[in-house]
Amino acid sequence: MKAIAVDPGAGEPALVERPRPDPEPGEALVRTLRVGIDGTDHEVIAGHHGDLPAGADDLVLGHEAVGIVEDPNGTALEPGQFVVPTVRRRPDDSNEFFERGEPDMAPSGEYVERGIVGAHGFMAEYFTSPAEYLVPIPAELAALGFLVEPISITEKALEHAVASRSAFEWDPESALVLGNGPLGLITLAMFESVLEFDRTYCLGRRDRSHPTVKLVSELGGTYVDSRETPASEIPAEHEAVDLVYEATGHAKHAFETVEALAPNGVGVLLGVPEPWEFEVDGGRLHRELVLHNKALLGTVNSHRGHFEAAIDTLAQLPDWFTEELTSGVYDLENYQDAFDAGDDVVKTAIEFDAV
Ligand code: NDP
Ligand code: ZN
Repeated sequence: MKAIAVDPGAGEPALVERPRPDPEPGEALVRTLRVGIDGTDHEVIAGHHGDLPAGADDLVLGHEAVGIVEDPNGTALEPGQFVVPTVRRRPDDSNEFFERGEPDMAPSGEYVERGIVGAHGFMAEYFTSPAEYLVPIPAELAALGFLVEPISITEKALEHAVASRSAFEWDPESALVLGNGPLGLITLAMFESVLEFDRTYCLGRRDRSHPTVKLVSELGGTYVDSRETPASEIPAEHEAVDLVYEATGHAKHAFETVEALAPNGVGVLLGVPEPWEFEVDGGRLHRELVLHNKALLGTVNSHRGHFEAAIDTLAQLPDWFTEELTSGVYDLENYQDAFDAGDDVVKTAIEFDAV
């Protein structure tokens, strides 16, 4: 079967031949339909993030997949059922985080991640997976199934943000997304269409003619150009916000988030920056957090419950927006375009088989 693999840091993704996998007991065989690409894939390709599987000299990419069960292999799944795989797998049998169904909370070294760290991904015509990590998705959403994993990242982030504010009456009205990449725009769409914040903002560094900036206003958000108004000046220019969702990976935004927040607000950090030393007024930040009851938290990955919530959310996103997100789906023979598509395409994916 065909697969897309890379030697991280040493080259471009290449089309390779691999034997079709045989499911082990408890695993199903899945025929891959579509696999999305995000910033993490580009970081893996560049060698900045992730790791090869033990003993391998390349990594099959892909962690945002949707497929169809080819062989349930004695599991409770049905042949022909559409499924979305979760990303983390246990490296060994004894792992309390996986036993609790919370692999997303496992520390480094206690998990592998398919297509990212220590395990081959889903960019292959077939893959196998334990059935417990395959989340059924309705047939009418299957074409959009590669969006479930990124949405699940935001489901988890919001669950943790809300939990951090659960000790008091918190009634957020305004939200700010930092970043107009795929994760930022999907999250903005969730804020507008599902959570129905009264006012939303999205920060980028593109001219107003850029397609993503148009999407921000079509979604109902106010675009903020960080070259004119840094995140820390949003309270002066617009308003202090109840929730900040950072999806830029720009390390200064972790600190500017605290200044952008209204009293009792919460900031969630998603970006994965490289080391970068710069000056911050630590005293002011510390004081802001304390005197205004602010919270700042980091979050990574997501578990099965977040995937299930993401499937519900996907069904609620406006059709015009999901159509926009599928305009960058490329056939397997044009897979390179999916990695090299210009900035005008919000989200790209590779189609291994027609949905
Ligand atoms: P992208 O890199 O595609 O998007 C980042 C966006 O932020 C780009 O639009 C970029 O603009 C913008 N940006 C960067 N710096 C600034 C700045 N100083 N001012 C304004 N805008 C800025 O990534 P994704 O959308 O795929 O993901 C977002 C982040 O989340 C990444 O860091 C990724 O690694 C991380 N991530 C984290 C996950 C988790 O579980 N925690 C899961 C998935 C992703 P431009 O294009 O103009 O440079
Ligand atoms: Zn992803």
